[in-house]
This record gives sequence, structure tokens and C-alpha cells, in this order.
Amino acid sequence: MSRFLLIGPPGAGKGTQAARLAEAYGIPAISTGDIFRFNVKNETELGKLAKSFMDRGEYVPDSVTNDLVRDRLSHEDAQAGFLLDGYPRTSDQVNELDSILADQGRALDAVIQLTAETDEVVRRLLNRAIEQGRTDDTEEVIRRRLEIYEAETAPLTSVYAGRGLVVMVDGLGAIDEVTERIREALDARLGVN
Ligand code: ADP
Repeated sequence: MSRFLLIGPPGAGKGTQAARLAEAYGIPAISTGDIFRFNVKNETELGKLAKSFMDRGEYVPDSVTNDLVRDRLSHEDAQAGFLLDGYPRTSDQVNELDSILADQGRALDAVIQLTAETDEVVRRLLNRAIEQGRTDDTEEVIRRRLEIYEAETAPLTSVYAGRGLVVMVDGLGAIDEVTERIREALDARLGVN
């Protein structure tokens, strides 16, 4: 009973929370962004392809991302549950995930929507740019990523809300506080005491 999605704007703190939730629930956190960055760093064919899109703040094409996730979800460690961070991000990806899960005879348990205001998100991302030097964290690219998120990904929440799966959590506050909020919301939803 722990197949979760984590959705939210860039800078909402998805990666940080995903790692903590994965540990708490004993499931792998699968971040498409991390997988792409790993491939970029190692200069694989996938990395070379992904880099051109990532550096502009654009999404990697659905066909590429979908194949990657289908493969990753077939691994042994994802059979008992998973937390997907940063996927799906487009309606095509929502359809693909539905199909992957249907093929496995499985279903999602909850979709965690992490919210954060744009000003705060931009501030965090600019900060991270200074600290970690991610190439897609320049101000221009950050703006582009936020635009694309609003246009392509934010509307997906209503698809999952229509299925009664969405748990909304405020991403502002201390890291521990946010983790606790998510756990409480998930446990309430899953009926854990
Ligand atoms: P953030 O949440 O901060 O935007 P991520 O680490 O999740 O960053 O993703 C970084 C980049 O990787 C995205 O801007 C995009 O280019 C690519 N990417 C990650 N996940 C996907 C996805 N599901 N579909 C397409 N591109 C993706």
C-alpha cells in the first residue's frame, strides 16, 4: 500500500522530502531528474540527449522519459512500492504510468501535492544555484521551468484529484515540519493509526 507520487513546482523541496519519505516507508524514491542528472554526468547517450533539454529548462521528450520509468519500475526493489518524484509531468506521462501500473495489476495509493509560492521557490532555486551549481538553476532557466510547470504539470493535479488521490501539503516551513505534515496526511489517508 505504498505507491506514491510527489508533485510540486521546482524548488518546492520534492527531492529532500522524497528521500525522507522513502526511508520512512521503506520504498525506493525514484527521481527522473536525478536519473537524468546521473546520465548527464556520466556522458551516456541518454545523458547527452537529456542535457540539451534540461539546460533550457524544457522537459525531456515523453517517449524517452516513459521508457526510462517503465524500465525502472520493473526492478525488484520497486515491486512492493515506490515514491515517484518528478514523474509524471505531462498528460502523456500520466497515461503511460496508468498503463505501466495496469500491466502490473497495481494502482496508486496517493498523490502528494507539495505547494509553495513562486517567490519562495525562485529564492530557493537561486540559493541552490549558488550552493550546488546546477546548470538549470540560472534565473532565466528557472523562470522557464516554472512556466512549463504551470502549463504542463500543475493541471495534472486535477486529474488525480478527480480520482480522489490527492493529498495537499504546504511545502513552506522547516524540513522536518514538512516531512511530518506529509506523513500525517498520508497516514490519515491510508488509515494508519
Ligand atoms: P525540478 O523539480 O527542480 O524542476 P528535477 O530534478 O525534477 O527538477 O528535474 C530537472 C530536469 O530534468 C527538468 O527540468 C527536466 O528537463 C528533466 N525531467 C525530470 N523529470 C522529467 C519528466 N518527468 N519529464 C520530462 N523531463 C523531466
